[in-house]
Amino acid sequence: MKLFVTGMVVLGMTGYAFAQNRFDLLLTGGHVIDAKNGISAVRDVGIKDGNIAAVAEHLDPAQALKVVNVAGLYVTPGLIDIHVHVFAGTGERNSYAGDSSLYPDGYTFRVGVTTVADAGCAGWRNFEEFKDKVIDRAKTRVFAFLNIVGAGMRGGRFENDLKDMEAAPAAEMAKKHKDVIVGIKTAHYAGPEWTPVEHAVEAGTAANIPVMVDFGEDRPERPIQDLLTKKLRPGDIYTHCFSGLRHELDEAGKVNQGMIDGRKRGVIFDVGHGGGSFAWRIAVPAMQQKFLPDSISTDLHTGSMNSGMKDMLNVMDKFLAMGMSLDDVVVRSTWNPAKEIHHEELGNLSVGSPADVTVLRVENGNFGFTDMYGARLGGKQRLAAELTIRNGKVVYDLNGITRPEWTTLPKGYTQTGNTAWDAITPARAGRGGRKGGPPAKQ
Ligand SMILES: [Zn+2]
Repeated sequence: MKLFVTGMVVLGMTGYAFAQNRFDLLLTGGHVIDAKNGISAVRDVGIKDGNIAAVAEHLDPAQALKVVNVAGLYVTPGLIDIHVHVFAGTGERNSYAGDSSLYPDGYTFRVGVTTVADAGCAGWRNFEEFKDKVIDRAKTRVFAFLNIVGAGMRGGRFENDLKDMEAAPAAEMAKKHKDVIVGIKTAHYAGPEWTPVEHAVEAGTAANIPVMVDFGEDRPERPIQDLLTKKLRPGDIYTHCFSGLRHELDEAGKVNQGMIDGRKRGVIFDVGHGGGSFAWRIAVPAMQQKFLPDSISTDLHTGSMNSGMKDMLNVMDKFLAMGMSLDDVVVRSTWNPAKEIHHEELGNLSVGSPADVTVLRVENGNFGFTDMYGARLGGKQRLAAELTIRNGKVVYDLNGITRPEWTTLPKGYTQTGNTAWDAITPARAGRGGRKGGPPAKQ
């Protein structure tokens, strides 16, 4: 009976399909990079009911509702950007809980990102507004680091208020929304005290989640060596690791011993490029000294989106330009960040995992990449997102590789996809016109 009902639904959508397909969507011939499973090789990837159903050298196309040939392209887990600012829509000026933030969907799928983590725009006082206004409405999977500041990232007046950095209510909010809140953030603090870090760690410990630190103003009273070797716990995250703003390289140009010692203890190092946190003169020597970041992230906000930082792929490109292999770049944009935010169901293509999948093209040519100061580094490769799949459905398709040629379709065609794999062209509302708008007033 269940099969019959499913079959009716599918037939209703397309007129052609059968319910017995082993796969709703099958990607064939692409080079799969899946660090969790140790795969970097040509593989077919089968998707069913929103999950990865099979990864193998050959999967039978006759068992798939939709087959897409991705030969010559790279198939990776959906990219995960753990440092963005997306608490848009409140109308507050000069605030990351407002105008400095961006709605996520315009900046994610088109560059292969399926999951983001907001880096502390909201604190416990305004998190539920953020959840309602953005997180619950986005098509992108949105997690959040909760700011240790109760008011969130609303500017210096709030972010330097030691009285509003209470661990208990932050931990309570994190536990209440543990499906969405993946960590505690401290950021932008200008004073000499350790209070923001200490209270963030206290909240993180109580809620059993990591702390992400933007270490704010450089203060001699609280050097990064002490932060990384004494204050943070293994698994806590130091973001903006190549900014150079807090002695990440010492006077001699060597990676700060505190960074090396912190890494040995298990502290995580994240890029967090942003508008003012990535310099070639720091990143290149650090990479030459084999101090690679654990995760690659953008620090996307209105002040970074059109600066040296362009988008997630642009930040990944920069690591290719510095000589990192594509496999090493991809693991830092998928599996590593998934582990860092304790969401190991993501960032991999294991059977049963949510089918968040990105298909990338490596373009060869003469390209250039700029840092926070506008300094340039040339490169020969650039990544482009051909296809982005979220929960098993195509949400972005740059060149229409999943679509039929229009000349092959019936005269007067309307629907060209199938809701089993297609989220781009859902069924039209019908002749009555487009549906939408707010619900009618009661
Ligand atoms: Zn940030």
